[in-house]
Amino acid sequence: MSPFWSDLVASLTPYVPGEQPRLANLVKLNTNENPYPPSPRALEALRDEIGEGLRLYPDPEASRLKAAIATYCQVAPRQVFVGNGSDEVLAHTFLGLLKHDAPLLFPDISYSFYPVYCGLYGIDGRNVPLNEQFEIRVDDYLNAPSCGAIIFPNPNAPTGRLLPLTEIERLLEGKPDVVVVVDEAYIDFGGKSAIALVNRYPNLLVVQTLSKSRSLAGLRVGFAVGHAALIEALERVKNSFNSYPLDRLAIAGAVAAIEDTAHFETTRQAVIHSREQLMRDMAALGFTVLPSAANFIFARHPNHDAGDLAAALRARNIIVRHFRQPRIEQYLRITIGSDAQCAALVMALQEILGG
Ligand SMILES: *Cc1c(COP(=O)(O)O)cnc(C)c1O
Repeated sequence: MSPFWSDLVASLTPYVPGEQPRLANLVKLNTNENPYPPSPRALEALRDEIGEGLRLYPDPEASRLKAAIATYCQVAPRQVFVGNGSDEVLAHTFLGLLKHDAPLLFPDISYSFYPVYCGLYGIDGRNVPLNEQFEIRVDDYLNAPSCGAIIFPNPNAPTGRLLPLTEIERLLEGKPDVVVVVDEAYIDFGGKSAIALVNRYPNLLVVQTLSKSRSLAGLRVGFAVGHAALIEALERVKNSFNSYPLDRLAIAGAVAAIEDTAHFETTRQAVIHSREQLMRDMAALGFTVLPSAANFIFARHPNHDAGDLAAALRARNIIVRHFRQPRIEQYLRITIGSDAQCAALVMALQEILGG
């Protein structure tokens, strides 16, 4: 606290990211990073971009990247918005599309950045509880007494549960007058993207990131796809905030990563395969594991406290995410690592549960 702070800053409750400790031999399964390296073509593009060109500002429109994403998503370039990580895309979305007189609805268990943006922009955010199986119930949104906009991750985080596209469509049809934002940070690990619906629903915005399925969390690139009018709102916010959110390296690396479909396919299939194996191994250890369409699993053990388990894993150099939050305090969110990392996790858990 300082008398120099604005009232707004004094009132904020900022987001707390998962920790990034710099320890050797750490099995880091706490922030849903991809265990595989980025596309070699992306790394080559980054090296090629380093040079005198850095003297100049990047393309403020990142047109090359928008074109690559438009081709990949089969939409027009003016239906694409790009930002410094999908967190920035989401921030602009909250300000430009989700701030209305009626409340913004999102699940009680979902990405914990949503309430933070509500605080930053003075948005009336309201929780809609997931059901007992941690599923989103579309009817709860359709029947809400007041609703100015809707946002949810799909697959949801940190549960990993997927809402089928047919349900998203039912929501869009029942709520044609409000913006519906689907945050697809994990869609490449097991779901069908709602991008297929954007040309039919002018109120749908889909947000994706290169951080998870493209192994580029360190490059900070995210994007949104939707009707051109929604994209224009985001451009207006962006051009009132920072003309150059993506630097030259980010643009070059992201274009190459989007174009390298072979690397993308191989690595995402490897993660999916490891997830299925890890789910079987965890079930064999007595864990209850929610169905997951993401690059993490959400699991609890009926006889062991989740906080104790996280601490015991940490003592063995394995970090997982534990949220001290109502309804989910007995769950661990575990990122899918390499097969060797998953095996190390399972061995450690065997030891902890047996001991
Ligand atoms: C990781 C994540 C993001 C943010 O991704 P960045 O592109 O790295 O900013 C957004 N939404 C959800 C649900 C996430 O898990």
